Order: sequence, then structure tokens, then C-alpha cells
Amino acid sequence: MSAVIDVGGIKVSALNDGEVHLPPMYYPGLDFGAHPELLQADGTYHIPVGCFLIQAENLTVLVDAGLGPSSIPFPGDIAAAAGLTDPPESIAAGGLLPGALAAAGVGPADITTVFLTHLHADHIGWVAPGGVPFFPNAVVMCSAVEWQTPPVSPAPGELEGRRGLAVARAAGVLRLLDAATAELAPGVRAHHTPGHTPGHYVVSVSCHGEAAYLLGDAVHHPLQLNDKGISFLSETEPERALRAREELLTALQGRNVSIGMTHFPGLDFQRITTANGREWTAAG
Ligand SMILES: [Zn+2]
Repeated sequence: MSAVIDVGGIKVSALNDGEVHLPPMYYPGLDFGAHPELLQADGTYHIPVGCFLIQAENLTVLVDAGLGPSSIPFPGDIAAAAGLTDPPESIAAGGLLPGALAAAGVGPADITTVFLTHLHADHIGWVAPGGVPFFPNAVVMCSAVEWQTPPVSPAPGELEGRRGLAVARAAGVLRLLDAATAELAPGVRAHHTPGHTPGHYVVSVSCHGEAAYLLGDAVHHPLQLNDKGISFLSETEPERALRAREELLTALQGRNVSIGMTHFPGLDFQRITTANGREWTAAG
């Protein structure tokens, strides 16, 4: 297991900004009764808030910008709906990304491109927390349709994150994508994979015959590899999300391609082997 991989000379590191604490109802179709090991004592499933750093000569791209320096108190109505008597203090807590970047030897000013797979709160928080751009030299890229379509009922933290994007927009550094694919840097491409959100993109890295994919939230839970009945509560179009997920998993299975997913426990890179049916296998 490795949270840093080399893709033909391009270094890709998984960084964690924090933790999200989700009641079982966030994963419709997942039988937590059959998987009690997934739940912590507080009755929620804990997932990391992943970001990915892509580094090569003259290339420092950050894929997703975490939750930001904030902690979102666990909403009382969600605790009640989930039947949680002793919920965790927060439903999501960020704040770790600056330290993770420093540990990787990278400062905020080194990042040249921040690419956002989609605009949920746990992917945009460090763009400009409190209205101050955190990456002073970076362009910020995301889907045009997603930027132009604010959420009807925003999740906690989402509006604050979008205010950060507005700051980037006002500063002239927000680049909006509407193409099916786009080159972010040599060897680094974004691919439109709508479903989780209308403007969700995954990112591929390829160099000297090696390849990696960063799937964002297109795959949200490891069990989705073999169970098409598991979805995620905030998916805007669950059926389209399933289609996108299956296309990606099918395209990647049985290949020597390292895969990173934002919310997989440990943020370790995986491959999909097929010798005994589809299985996650540690990459590296
Ligand atoms: Zn997410």
C-alpha cells in the first residue's frame, strides 16, 4: 500500500485534509448490518477528505481542495433522522491539507493549477477560505455547468466554498471547462463523468507508458466495485452516476493502472484485478 506513486516519472501523492462522518443513510443500498465493521462507535462511517498532488518538472497540480480550515457541527436534524443518540461532534472536519502539503515539500505558492473534480463542500474548501486565496499563483479549474448552477439546497459548507470560487472568479483565475476532455498539463487530462454531479470530472495521468486515474467521487465506496445497488445520497443523478462508475471500473479493470479515490479509507492507490472476479488490489 502506498500513498505516493510514480507514474512514468510523474509523482502522484494522496493528501488528506480531514474526515467526514456519515450516517448509513448516506449510502443507499449498502447493508451496514452485514458490514458492522464499517461503522464507528458513534454510529457513523468515517471517510478521509482526499486531495491529490501531481508533480513533475514545471508541473504542480492539486486535484481537489478539501474542506478547508473548518469543522461543520453535526446537524441535529440529520442525527435525528439517522437515529443517532450520540453523534460525533462534526459531520466533517478539515484543516490538514497545509500540513500535508508541507510534508510533501510543497508550499501553497508552488501550486500552479488547482483542479476541482466537482463543487461539493469537501472538494473546494481551500480555494479561498474566508475570501483569501490560499494558492496565490494558481489557476483554478472546474466544470462550467457546475459553477453556473448553484445548488438548490446547499449542503453545510457548500456556500462558503463557492464564495471562495467567486473570489477566484473576481481575480480572473477561474477557468471553466465544458469539454468532454481537457489537458490540464502535459500527461494530465480531465474527463467529464457526470452523475455524482453534473460537472464531475475524473483525472488521468500518463507518462512513458504508465498510467493512473484519480476518480474523485465517481466511486464513493469500495463495495461499489461489485455491488451496483449502492449509491450515494447527494448524487444528483444516481442512474447516470452508476453508468459512469461502471464504465470507469470496466475500462480500468485488469489493467496495470493505479487508481486514487477521494474517500477510500487510507487513501491508498489501488488496482482492479480480475483473476478472482473484480478485486481491489494494492497498487505501488
Ligand atoms: Zn466528496
